[in-house]
Amino acid sequence: MEASYDYVIIGSGFGGSVSALRLSQKGYKVLVIEKGRWYQHADDFPKSNWNLRKWMWLPTLGLKGIFKMTFYRHVVALSGVGVGGGSLVYANTLPVPKSPFFNSGHWAGLADWENDLKPHYETAKKMLGANAHPYMSKSDKVMQQLAKDENAPFAKTDVAVYFGKPGETVADPYFGGDGPDRTGCVLCGGCMLGCRYNSKNTLDKNYLHLAQQLGAKIIAEKEVVDVVPLDSQGAHGYEITFQNTFGWIKKTQKVKAKGIIFAGGVTGTVPLLLQLKKKSLPLLSDTLGNGVRTNSESLIGVTTFDKTNDFSEGIAIGSIIHLDDQRHLEPVKYSAGSGFFRLLMAPMVSGSSFLGRLFSMIKDFVMHPIDNFRVFLVDDWSRRTQILLYMESIDSTLKMVTSKTGMTTTQKENGPPPTAFNPKAQELAKKTEAIINGKSMVMNTESLFGIPTTAHILGGACMGKDATSGVIDKNNKVFNYENMYVCDGSMISANPGVNPSLSITAITERAMGLISVKECRT
Ligand SMILES: Cc1cc2nc3c(=O)[nH]c(=O)nc-3n(C[C@H](O)[C@H](O)[C@H](O)COP(=O)(O)OP(=O)(O)OC[C@H]3O[C@@H](n4cnc5c(N)ncnc54)[C@H](O)[C@@H]3O)c2cc1C
Ligand code: SF4
Repeated sequence: MEASYDYVIIGSGFGGSVSALRLSQKGYKVLVIEKGRWYQHADDFPKSNWNLRKWMWLPTLGLKGIFKMTFYRHVVALSGVGVGGGSLVYANTLPVPKSPFFNSGHWAGLADWENDLKPHYETAKKMLGANAHPYMSKSDKVMQQLAKDENAPFAKTDVAVYFGKPGETVADPYFGGDGPDRTGCVLCGGCMLGCRYNSKNTLDKNYLHLAQQLGAKIIAEKEVVDVVPLDSQGAHGYEITFQNTFGWIKKTQKVKAKGIIFAGGVTGTVPLLLQLKKKSLPLLSDTLGNGVRTNSESLIGVTTFDKTNDFSEGIAIGSIIHLDDQRHLEPVKYSAGSGFFRLLMAPMVSGSSFLGRLFSMIKDFVMHPIDNFRVFLVDDWSRRTQILLYMESIDSTLKMVTSKTGMTTTQKENGPPPTAFNPKAQELAKKTEAIINGKSMVMNTESLFGIPTTAHILGGACMGKDATSGVIDKNNKVFNYENMYVCDGSMISANPGVNPSLSITAITERAMGLISVKECRT
């Protein structure tokens, strides 16, 4: 590793990977620093989520996997860790949000977003290998029936998966031979454990792979802990400090760069910036941490009592119901044998008080003891459970702050906080129960504490027209600092109401397109 770079990129998820390739193409010397592991072999990924060591991220307990759960006051955020960031753990689904997203929230009016971003969505889809899911699994059929009941359009998802012929390996089908070999998807349902079949188009197989060919350097298992400008506003560059992620003794290293891209995802970038604002980056906008959104989503598992139903076969998310312009529902699955979440499930109840919900849960156990027993002891939780992912673009925001103990926490901001008891989501779960003869369950943090879970935590470093209204401008440049950008989920300034990775990719494509060329290298 060299002592100085043109750009250092913190994190290798969607925003970081796009930045790495586009800046390398423009002739810049790029270093990507990633705190998670680098997954180079199929066996690096777990076979099931019972293999916590390989699946879950909790390094202090020796768990060095791809799936991270962060517990905040108002929400439990799920995210990905490793070279490729959330693409390793995500469910491949790449929808384009509808109009409300482009015309609401913190970025409303800063640009004609829907039209400006159109070509970048196309580029993003092409780079990520988005294509329509060609199969119809059991869970897709259930969704189709539910869509009929709801009188709402049902569609197959666009997904970042190479289908080809199941199990057959072919030379790079995407980048004219510059990309890696790909193998046809075998519909094992394990996308959210990491693809062991080389079929999922994770970022290390496209953006990062191509960036490396152009000289971008990636280092894994290193966490950035400080960014210090070499003068008051970084006109002369920055000194970046990072340390090894694993092990008790933290060896520190430093590197210099003229520019810096924060791309650690919301649970990485926002806490880091909040800390740095207190010491090395005091000029960051006071709006830092504002506008955190969750896509207002609900995750509900409906476990069937019918042992002929197998919801684990297929890809993680194969279809979508467009309930209306603001609301969507998708079926989600884990591969057979991946039943870890059964340990965290509780009956789906609602109510505003802890005691009221506790009473409802006890009542549910007393009134339906056999059903509850059957759900907890079901033979294979992932085969028998249809997970529902409900999302809406209706806005409500939280604020991320650093607590007195130095931990990052959330506070209520605008609108009601995200709820664990969305009535529409619960109504859809009840209808699914009827279709598959099952029982709805949610994470016990929802039933007991009323804290919703989201795989789509967004915002916290939102756009604004100046530093009094946002952390970054409409081109992702951080106010008050030179050559400093935020390119990840934290820049998302409205609720997409659908899965956000395609939008993160497209918005970063736009931002990187506006950086001038150093020397052309394509
Ligand atoms: C189970 C699951 C399923 C999902 N399914 C979908 C889906 O189907 N479709 C969709 O669009 N979205 C999905 N998502 C959401 C999607 O994964 C995220 O929205 C997306 O990955 C966010 O991209 P990002 O650019 O913000 O950064 P991320 O992809 O989150 O990557 C950030 C990276 O930065 C690293 N990092 C953080 N801090 C530091 C630091 N200080 N130093 C070094 N490295 C650091 C992290 O380890 C991580 O690898 C899913 C998420 C989960 C958890
Ligand atoms: S279904 Fe299985 S083979 Fe297909 S992309 Fe997902 S993990 Fe890979």
